[in-house]
Amino acid sequence: MSTLEILTFLVWLVASVTFIFALKFLASPKTARTGNLLGAAGMALIVLWTFFTHDATSPEADPGMFGNWWIIIVGGAIGAVIGWFSAKRVAMTAMPQMVAIFNGAGGGAAALVAVVEFLRDQELHPGELLPLAFIIATLLGAIIGSVSLTGSIVAWGKLQGVIASRPVRYPGSQIVTGLLFLVLIGLAVYVAVIEPSTPLFLLFVVLALILGVQLTMPIGGADMPVVISLLNAYTGIAVAATGFVLSNYALLIAGTLVGASGTILTQLMTRAMNRSLVNVLFAGFGTGGEAAAAGEGEEQLREISAEDAAVLMAYGKRVVIVPGYGMAVAQAQGPVRELMDLLISKGVDVQFAIHPVAGRMPGHMNVLLAEANVPYDRLKEMDEINDDFADTDVALVIGANDVVNPLAREEGSPISGMPILNVDQAQNVIVLKRGRGTGFAGIPNPLFSNEKTAMLFGDAKPSVENLVAGVKQA
Ligand code: NDP
Repeated sequence: MSTLEILTFLVWLVASVTFIFALKFLASPKTARTGNLLGAAGMALIVLWTFFTHDATSPEADPGMFGNWWIIIVGGAIGAVIGWFSAKRVAMTAMPQMVAIFNGAGGGAAALVAVVEFLRDQELHPGELLPLAFIIATLLGAIIGSVSLTGSIVAWGKLQGVIASRPVRYPGSQIVTGLLFLVLIGLAVYVAVIEPSTPLFLLFVVLALILGVQLTMPIGGADMPVVISLLNAYTGIAVAATGFVLSNYALLIAGTLVGASGTILTQLMTRAMNRSLVNVLFAGFGTGGEAAAAGEGEEQLREISAEDAAVLMAYGKRVVIVPGYGMAVAQAQGPVRELMDLLISKGVDVQFAIHPVAGRMPGHMNVLLAEANVPYDRLKEMDEINDDFADTDVALVIGANDVVNPLAREEGSPISGMPILNVDQAQNVIVLKRGRGTGFAGIPNPLFSNEKTAMLFGDAKPSVENLVAGVKQA
């Protein structure tokens, strides 16, 4: 082994260790920025090392490759500029879309590497079958990367409102999906063991791209975060397959880490919603429009004025704020922070109860509250705070619904078994929402007609601003 090869292995090892620590740091909001920087540094190290040591970039090694040198620089520069500006300018609420599109780019890159490697091999050894392990990895990289690319584009379109966010199905769509799978398997077997035909391999890639669209269109827009997390896992697996094809251990390790963490995140999300992945992928659940139409029933709800609600909180000992999707819609996090500061200045103990799937993406509430500079130590996870609601004077629910719905404790409701925040155990519950709209699950919520509950109707942002004004006067 040459010195360069040994050094290359060492660089891969160092970078892989930074990825592992990056994941560890990303697990807590306090250390997430460090984790992000560490992972990016590891990736930069590998990219630069490859760039300066690989033969293809050295004009002396192969003058024919000189053209590629500029392609890499120009392509890298364009990618870096797009990445930098979109990360700087993205609104916090548009984060899922950005993750989707970046993830799609990763999947697409893995599929492209597979295509290029196949074509290169056919150019060097025309008509010769590739070693089985190599062709399996190539086919896996091509199919999973392609599905991830087009699936992520559809997910982006649904979240951005460019494509209908409701589940889109046509008669016989499941049969078409089944046929696509069968044809893909047939083509893969043919290319792997009968004849390494380039046109059939390219047909395989095109059909895989169609499969990505076919699998994602029937899923409702609100389920997209789970789908993005799953597609992210796919991208990781495609990248790991690419690492195998290129004998690049750093890619193999990075891809495996992404594949594993994407799979774990998908599992955590489906478990927190008490739904199976099959239900998310095939049930066309939570389509927004239907949910709103279902309504909250016509039972009498007790209303409260902002002034009275403010007095209740200002003279309480302990207030727990429960944010949900409605807080994100209203962008009420700034006034919520102000309310927290005011209550604390009046000697009230204020904490936030964070449900794992409150909002529409993992960590949605944490990110919004962090943006408004709410200190991390005031954010309590569900398990940490659930026993404390009984000692709470006021639970202030801001645009949350499913995550506080006691129906989850009963058999037979669509959210049966979903863990919820025990808001109904607080002494008083104040709920901020616009009207009688249901949550993501589209079912009524008995918490709102509970005798301890008072409703403060209206958009959450002006409602919280009114509470702030009320607390100032209390
Ligand atoms: P929900 O979607 O259950 O409820 C949100 C509530 O906010 C609605 O009842 C709505 O009522 C109210 N609301 C909407 N806009 C406003 C506004 N501008 N001002 C005030 N209130 C508003 O939210 P939760 O956070 O409680 O639950 C999240 C749901 O999303 C769960 O079912 C979860 O499983 C699902 N989900 C979560 C994912 C995640 O990763 N976090 C991923 C996919 C799904 P009204 O219209 O009357 O105002």
